[in-house]
Amino acid sequence: MPDKMRNVIIIGSGCSGLTAAIYAARANLSPLVIDGHEPGGQLAITTLVENFPGFPDGVQGPELIENMRKQALRFGAEFLAGHVVTVDLSQKRPDGSKKPIEIKLGRETLLARTLIIASGASARWLGLANEQALIGHGVSSCATCDGFFFSGKEIAVIGGGDSAMEEALFLSRFATKVTIIHRRGAFRASKIMLERARQHQQIKFLTDTVVDDVFDVSKKEVTGLRLRNLKTGEQWDLPVSAMFLGIGHTPNAQFVGEQLARDGDGYLIPDGYVGSRAPGVFISGDVADRHYRQAVTAAGTGCMAALEAEKYLEEIGK
Ligand SMILES: Cc1cc2nc3c(=O)[nH]c(=O)nc-3n(C[C@H](O)[C@H](O)[C@H](O)COP(=O)(O)OP(=O)(O)OC[C@H]3O[C@@H](n4cnc5c(N)ncnc54)[C@H](O)[C@@H]3O)c2cc1C
Repeated sequence: MPDKMRNVIIIGSGCSGLTAAIYAARANLSPLVIDGHEPGGQLAITTLVENFPGFPDGVQGPELIENMRKQALRFGAEFLAGHVVTVDLSQKRPDGSKKPIEIKLGRETLLARTLIIASGASARWLGLANEQALIGHGVSSCATCDGFFFSGKEIAVIGGGDSAMEEALFLSRFATKVTIIHRRGAFRASKIMLERARQHQQIKFLTDTVVDDVFDVSKKEVTGLRLRNLKTGEQWDLPVSAMFLGIGHTPNAQFVGEQLARDGDGYLIPDGYVGSRAPGVFISGDVADRHYRQAVTAAGTGCMAALEAEKYLEEIGK
């Protein structure tokens, strides 16, 4: 990789980073996109996406993301396989003179005038042997995205906080029965959310219970869960067509440290829409979004971040 200064570096090649890349590349800014541990981001690990506008019959997540990548490449975006370990956003040397933004990937340091952080938020999974193989086939971390596929079916939701209650309430619009499975007896969820779930006829609760396994990889669909009561040790199988994780997400922003504003869970807090307190540094997609977490919103803020980067470069005369 040449060590020249870049106009735009984008951390992350999910739908937010790729949309930013398309806009920045079409503005002749030759962006460099760093792929990270998950090239293509979360859409690359899912199956059918039915809510991204423009695809009346839906589109496979990996196909959608591959098309975005090709679109960015067509206008001159470049890609680099690598993982950002730290960034230095200070842009000032000890003597007070100006220096570029520094992006460190192991031994390599990249320099940029603007940086777009589009590093997403990773869903927390249970770590079961068959879980990853069934993502997109009944295992999901997004009720808004996948609930519709399970109309008329029985579903399990894992977790005991507000996310789990929200998912269960949303899924009860489609499912005939939603079972909330929680490893403790007490819930972290707010009283109001818990009450709403408790009063819902289709929502049932299983407490002090953990999931030991999810079936059935050979059929490429979820057919049930092996459960265990933590108090009695009893194991049994619960037939369900889907398992939704409601145990939160981890924003991928550790490399920023305390240089940008972050909330208690580590999500970046943008200044305005996509700005930050560091000049030339913009934030887009799920890394700053604990509420919507959708492909179209991530793409939307990616576009905004690229337009802001373009404006900033103009302002500094580049
Ligand atoms: C199973 C599943 C199904 C989904 N289905 C839908 C759906 O049907 N419709 C919908 O709208 N949304 C869906 N979503 C949500 C959607 O995928 C996300 O909202 C969207 O991908 C967020 O885009 P993003 O670009 O912000 O982040 P991500 O897609 O998470 O991409 C983040 C990128 O940052 C990179 N990265 C992270 N850390 C670093 C680092 N340190 N250095 C370099 N790179 C780094 C990663 O490798 C990745 O390339 C689904 C999500 C999942 C998990």
